[in-house]
Amino acid sequence: MFDFDLFVIGGGSGGVRAARMASESGARVGLAEQSRMGGTCVIRGCVPKKLMVNAADFGDAFEDSVGFGWSANGINFDWKTFRQAKDREILRLEKLYRANLEKAGVCLFDQRAEMADSHTVRLADGQSHSAKYILIATGGAPFLPDIEGIEYAVCSDDIFLLDTLPKNVAIVGGGYIACEFATILNGLGSEVTQFYRGEMILRGFDNDIQTHVCAGMRNRGINIRLQCDVAKIEKKESALMVTDKSGPVGHYDMVLYATGRRPRTAGLGLEAVGVALGKQGEILVDDFSQSSVPSIFAVGDVTDRVNLTPMAIREGAAFVQTIFAANPIKADHNNVATAVFTRPEVGTVGLTQSEAEQVGQPKIHVTRFRPLSGAIAGRDENVLMKIVEDGDNGRVLGVHIVSPHAAELIQLAGIAIKMKATKEDFDHTVAVHPTLAEELVTL
Ligand code: FAD
Ligand code: NDP
Repeated sequence: MFDFDLFVIGGGSGGVRAARMASESGARVGLAEQSRMGGTCVIRGCVPKKLMVNAADFGDAFEDSVGFGWSANGINFDWKTFRQAKDREILRLEKLYRANLEKAGVCLFDQRAEMADSHTVRLADGQSHSAKYILIATGGAPFLPDIEGIEYAVCSDDIFLLDTLPKNVAIVGGGYIACEFATILNGLGSEVTQFYRGEMILRGFDNDIQTHVCAGMRNRGINIRLQCDVAKIEKKESALMVTDKSGPVGHYDMVLYATGRRPRTAGLGLEAVGVALGKQGEILVDDFSQSSVPSIFAVGDVTDRVNLTPMAIREGAAFVQTIFAANPIKADHNNVATAVFTRPEVGTVGLTQSEAEQVGQPKIHVTRFRPLSGAIAGRDENVLMKIVEDGDNGRVLGVHIVSPHAAELIQLAGIAIKMKATKEDFDHTVAVHPTLAEELVTL
């Protein structure tokens, strides 16, 4: 007889969903969390990040309002006030996560756990607990390359805890986190220089999104330096000097590294119990999130599939359905809509133009235009909307948007793509006027 039917390691998006659902279905569930309940998304990811985006957005609103007749003199942003409000909200959410787990009957352990054998976890205080199934949901952690002076750099986890905002910041990386924090910090008043080693930021996104966002960020005053691979950081009195292969490239009061994340599997004792890991340390799982050891499953970022909160939640839910409800479900990793909360904002789902061109001859529909409010506000920022259509059967393969509220728009386009809508279906839909989204049905 096992102590638990399920033991979950990690109280983040995937682990919490699985633990709650399993417990509510009648299983005896334990969960260990070594830090704060809620994991990356709630404590040091999506939620505090989005609150910072909201904070930065007010700057735009104040600026734009002047053209509409408002006076916006003496506007000032106070980081300390914002930080206190944000910290209170994160604490509230953390407590809510904990309360919901307890209400569902999950037995919580506020400590680190690792594997002792294929059915047993060992906790930091020395206790061991056996379980019929063990779910690893330990997420990921920031990866910083091993260059000289990297100890002077901060990562995204640190940004949320700053006492003051940097006046002059260097951001290294060209992915989601680098671009989002470049625009957030720019919006909150920091001078931002972004270093990216490749030809164009947001590698892997549709080419038109990449160039449009890069131009939009530059237009807002962010100094984006492409093909600049930072080689060294040195402390020079109170400043940090950043050097690339050609020599010093600038002095900053903070250097933020946003150079990807790695699955958090080190020291978990997984290899010893026979769990197969991939090159980056990710747990290799099948379509049902089962690892190479039958009693051990893994969901979320630790499996390095689609590293987004809703995906971790889906994988956790599919695991519970499969194991505790005798209803085998594979989480679907295709056509997952996603947003990059830059300014301008990105929403994207499905195939990019170049992906579609590799498998066929797509028809491409693109429009760029200035939003109605832009002229009066004096904001020189165009919207981009792009539809990638299957040249053979008219199906919409991808939708790519750069615009205000692009994240909200793409959620709905995601439904159309899941339903296999055609371009003709889009065209038959009568527009909602005057909106930005109407362009999607009149393209
Ligand atoms: P996590 O949420 O990371 O949870 C893992 C938990 O396991 C952590 O709480 C950790 O403390 C705990 N843990 C680890 N090891 C142990 C152990 N040995 N014992 C006990 N506990 C352990 N995604 C989006 O969809 N939208 C966004 O806008 C977005 N923004 C992001 C912004 C940032 C700055 C970052 C870093 C990420 C963002 N993400 C976003 C990604 C999203 O946060 C992750 O995909 C999601 O949190 C993954 O959930 P998870 O359950 O796999 O892991
Ligand atoms: P990403 O994988 O998105 O980007 C990493 C960036 O760092 C890339 O530009 C990469 O360059 C660069 N890089 C990698 N290694 C080095 C190196 N050694 N030196 C210099 N540059 C390097 O990771 P992030 O950290 O931005 O985000 C992690 C994940 O979290 C995302 O992939 C996403 O899944 C999730 N996330 C989601 C968000 C959302 O939904 N809005 C927001 C934030 C995070 P190259 O392109 O050349 O490889």
